Amino acid sequence: MRNDFLPFALPDLDDTELQGVAAVLCSGWLTTGPRTREFEAAFAAAVGGPHAVAVNSCTAAMHLALDSVGLKRGDEVITSPYTFAATAEVIRYFDARPVFVDVDPDTLNIRPDLIERAISERTRAIIPVHVAGFPAEMEEIERLAAQHELAVIEDAAHAFPAGWHGRRVGEPLTPNGKPGASGAPWLACFSFYATKTITTGEGGMIVTDSEELADRCRMMALHGISKDAWKRYSADGSWYYEIMAPGYKYNMTDIAAAIGMAQLAKAARMRERREWIARRYSEAFAEVPQLQVPAEITEGVHAWHLYMLRIHQDRFGIDRGRLVQELKERNIGCSVHFIPLHIHPYYRETFGYEADDFPVAYREYQREVSLPIYSRMTDADVDDVIGAVTEVVRRHAR
Ligand SMILES: *Cc1c(COP(=O)(O)O)cnc(C)c1O
Repeated sequence: MRNDFLPFALPDLDDTELQGVAAVLCSGWLTTGPRTREFEAAFAAAVGGPHAVAVNSCTAAMHLALDSVGLKRGDEVITSPYTFAATAEVIRYFDARPVFVDVDPDTLNIRPDLIERAISERTRAIIPVHVAGFPAEMEEIERLAAQHELAVIEDAAHAFPAGWHGRRVGEPLTPNGKPGASGAPWLACFSFYATKTITTGEGGMIVTDSEELADRCRMMALHGISKDAWKRYSADGSWYYEIMAPGYKYNMTDIAAAIGMAQLAKAARMRERREWIARRYSEAFAEVPQLQVPAEITEGVHAWHLYMLRIHQDRFGIDRGRLVQELKERNIGCSVHFIPLHIHPYYRETFGYEADDFPVAYREYQREVSLPIYSRMTDADVDDVIGAVTEVVRRHAR
């Protein structure tokens, strides 16, 4: 057994982040400024998206995205219950209604056929989540959005870098091969939270093909003011500004952007390492009757933000909670993704949801355990995880 505890997640930081941050501190300009603009341009280029707006979280990004498409009180937004709190809380900010639909048992991504059935007169938008970095079925979702004139806001918190069927997550949806042909408003929101595939400590990015939506997001990210502070105070700027709407305080700092630039430079290397770890895990667990390894992607790039292992409860003498505990006792940090939103007290009490309303989400949650998967893990760390899981499984197999 390992002597030291292997954390579930760790950021991959080195001198490049330190030097980037030091340069910002020495420059005297700490908040949104040239570094943030540089990070936006570099991120947009990395995903192939025309416009990028940096903010201080993916939650803020999704809030601004919903504001930009004009979400109103009483509207409905179709999304997945198999996600983090942020995905649905941003809908509630507008006093709009999150309409959950169930997920695919293999990928744990939202099912387009169920989206179609949930569309009503009040539906305004669809928020698919690319769970673990496995892209959702965007072609089908885009087709529905175009047909019913709905906005699409991708919760891409797990999905940088990722892609499927020739499209990077963050690249405009191209129905019939024509960019923006459907006219459906589209935005993708990324997270740079400390545990995500790249980090700025806290941070997020909105990517869209619409200059108008990008401008609205940029304005609302900084108090609804028509110019940002950098332009106001620099030599060629002016003191004058106008408040166009009661906006928010969601702007990214240049300190965070400097970290982001350093992270971006190694994003491909970090993803390759995660993919290698995922392969090692899946090779080790594929033939174990107690375990189900995550779906592999064909014709695409999996971000491998999470490695979501599942147990076959009927062949296993302990439940998932106990498995997490036994791995912890063997110095392996694990987690669970996700406690479906519809079983949390707020959503149960507000909307009257029951666990079995989304039976796949509920069932898969009960048998899921996320193993550590990050680029700083050594080969020995990976072997330790495999060894610990194998030992616990052997001990409790039935
Ligand atoms: C982490 C996460 C978010 C929120 O990201 P923040 O940057 O922390 O606001 C949203 N959706 C999903 C699926 C996430 O995992």
